[in-house]
Amino acid sequence: MARDSSPAGPVPTPDEIRRAPKVLLHDHLDGGLRPGTVVELAEAAGYGALPTTDAAELGTWFRTAADSGSLESYLETFAHTCGVMQTEQALVRVAAECAEDLADDGVVYAEVRYAPELFVERGLSLEAVVEAVQAGFAEGERRAAARGRTIRTGTLLCAMRQHARALEIAELAVRYRDGGVVGFDIAGPEDGFPPTRNLDAFEYLRTSNAHFTIHAGEAFGLASIWEAIQHCGAERLGHGVRIVDDIKNSAGGTPELGRLAAYVRDRRIPLEVCPSSNVQTGAARSIAEHPIGLLASMSFRVTVNTDNRLMSGCSMSSEFGALVEAFGFGWADLQWFTINAMKSAFIDFDQRLDIINTIIKPGYARQVN
Ligand SMILES: [Zn+2]
Repeated sequence: MARDSSPAGPVPTPDEIRRAPKVLLHDHLDGGLRPGTVVELAEAAGYGALPTTDAAELGTWFRTAADSGSLESYLETFAHTCGVMQTEQALVRVAAECAEDLADDGVVYAEVRYAPELFVERGLSLEAVVEAVQAGFAEGERRAAARGRTIRTGTLLCAMRQHARALEIAELAVRYRDGGVVGFDIAGPEDGFPPTRNLDAFEYLRTSNAHFTIHAGEAFGLASIWEAIQHCGAERLGHGVRIVDDIKNSAGGTPELGRLAAYVRDRRIPLEVCPSSNVQTGAARSIAEHPIGLLASMSFRVTVNTDNRLMSGCSMSSEFGALVEAFGFGWADLQWFTINAMKSAFIDFDQRLDIINTIIKPGYARQVN
């Protein structure tokens, strides 16, 4: 059964898309710095490894390196951003600017994730990292509000698959759940590091009634998605786009769901889809060939996300814009993605409903009808 696609209607323009309220669930703090901030923080910290200290050139370098198809260049981009985020001041600044940039892009609710263990090279404790990031987001929300932009942010703490600290980070997430941390995630290489390596962390989170998502089904296939949902208990899937491997074309040409794909769709498990990032890492050949078109038409709970704004040179607005261009999505589709995301957020149900009813629906009403 396919979702009703919206009647053609007016094509959303980039300016209108930027003004419309948007919700972002999958964005990495260390993948969203302003190039100029990377340069200034590097100078302040005596970090000499940047390929250039010209902000504009550096911005281009990040996109090109992430685009090169080489895993080494891709990882080098994060070595630089993490390299300059090793002090409380740096973390506060990066988080504050993140909230401001998202608010300026019309994002009204965002969950931004990061791995605290990547920011302890210069002696910060994990707690100090979390507190600095939370202080930064609070500051960014205040600055945005002062300019008439309302954004609410929450954070997700990531553990790295290849390290062995998942339980420790899960405990940290629970300890700070009343202080702005809304959930947990595991990130890092999928191949060779199945999510079941961290079962103790997921069991701890479930018994603590805490929320978590898992990066699964990005480059690696169905087994990773199946483990994330059925063994670990993930509420959402980071990317999850490889679920299309369980959708086959029947003889009559209509798509047929396998058992796992049907489970993901029927249980309304949110997919945190990041189109530009998937093209950069080779998980999709182009935006036009991205599985998001098929997944949306089959009523999966699809959300649209940025992943790494610096490395992909993207924003929520540009992702929406690219999808409008590639798939002909209209206002009703953009509202659907946004409400899907808000319904799937890790904050309280009444607060999600409040944002849907008081901000999102009125924001789209002018466009949709
Ligand atoms: Zn990600």
